[in-house]
Amino acid sequence: MNNQDAYSINPPLCRNYADRFLVFDRGEGCHLYDIKGNRYLDMAAGIAVNALGYGRKDIAEIMSRQAEKIIHCSNLFSTIPTLTLAQKLTAASGYEAVFFGNSGTEANEAALKFARIYAKARKGEKAVAYLSFESAFHGRTAGTLSVTPNEKYQKSYRPLLPECYTAVFNDIASLEAALNDSFAAVIVEPVQGEGGIHVMTPEFAAKLNELCKGYDIVLIADEIQAGLGRTGYPFASAACGLNPDIITLGKPIAGGLPLGATLVRKKINDVIHPGDHGSTFGGNPVCCAVANHMTDTLLNPDFLNEIKEKGIYLRKRLTELKNRYPQLISEVRGIGLICGLVLKDMNPSDVIRECEANGLILLRAGTDVLRLVPPLIISHEEIDEGIAVIEKVLSGC
Ligand code: PLP
Repeated sequence: MNNQDAYSINPPLCRNYADRFLVFDRGEGCHLYDIKGNRYLDMAAGIAVNALGYGRKDIAEIMSRQAEKIIHCSNLFSTIPTLTLAQKLTAASGYEAVFFGNSGTEANEAALKFARIYAKARKGEKAVAYLSFESAFHGRTAGTLSVTPNEKYQKSYRPLLPECYTAVFNDIASLEAALNDSFAAVIVEPVQGEGGIHVMTPEFAAKLNELCKGYDIVLIADEIQAGLGRTGYPFASAACGLNPDIITLGKPIAGGLPLGATLVRKKINDVIHPGDHGSTFGGNPVCCAVANHMTDTLLNPDFLNEIKEKGIYLRKRLTELKNRYPQLISEVRGIGLICGLVLKDMNPSDVIRECEANGLILLRAGTDVLRLVPPLIISHEEIDEGIAVIEKVLSGC
């Protein structure tokens, strides 16, 4: 494939992303087409967002119908799509209420703020600390960055929030040593995405449940990447046995439109008062109209069973690759359709670049992992197509 003319070099975009971008024109199902007409299988889904793939007439129609009625009315008022979505999410989760923002990081920011309100009400002014975990990723705002203990992301922005501590993910001794009742909240991904596709063990989940309950610490599950079906379960915490007080959602929730959701249990909602938090655009009716359709589709039990089954198939195919290339691959990780291939002595970015040149879009996670988070509608044949490209690239390494 010759796709060199499909790149934009040094466009007038801030340098925070890159200086070279592959420019896409359109998509259909699980495939993307660049501006020169080259076709790519997308196993990245816009970073775990495009759960139902591209070119969706159903989503376009819902957007257009709602846009003709009301695009925005602020949170001084509400609309039927917003209220319906709140009802659907609370009914599906068993949580009491939801706060809508515009992104994952805002969903976590709200969770961290609500936890402070709760802790101050229950334990007084001193219970302000936050615990997060090595390799976590919770976002880029100053608050969420403070609980994202990654030197690369934090170093230019210190001082960040005080009283933020780190323990080792899936390490019970480290968790026990870190926590005491001066903590307001623990924030944790049931499946660490950016950090390398680490799935929480049931033992670690049980210990988190027990310690947070014992110290009356708010347990926040960041399900922004792994929630809403990607694990094959409606909620990623349920897949791991975690029992959080707050669940945060984002990425796939509105089919690619910007929306974040912070689901809270009654005990949290009881201490929140008017004016405590807010957002101009959060819960926008166009995003919520699409999110109602996404939620109905993603939480359908048949759809979830297909995700579980396709996840097993994807990991089987990845394990075959590992067995054929033991000198290049050390491990296969994941649950449902969030999977990682751990590489040995290779920079994942080099493999990703080669795959891109061969018509496959993949992501990196951590320092050594190829991340596969395809649209959830991916077929077995498309999984085979992706595996064939990865094998072609690895066989040349
Ligand atoms: N939390 C997790 C687990 C994520 O994967 C991400 C984004 O990758 C975020 C939070 C931040 O979400 P957003 O980029 O929508 O602000």
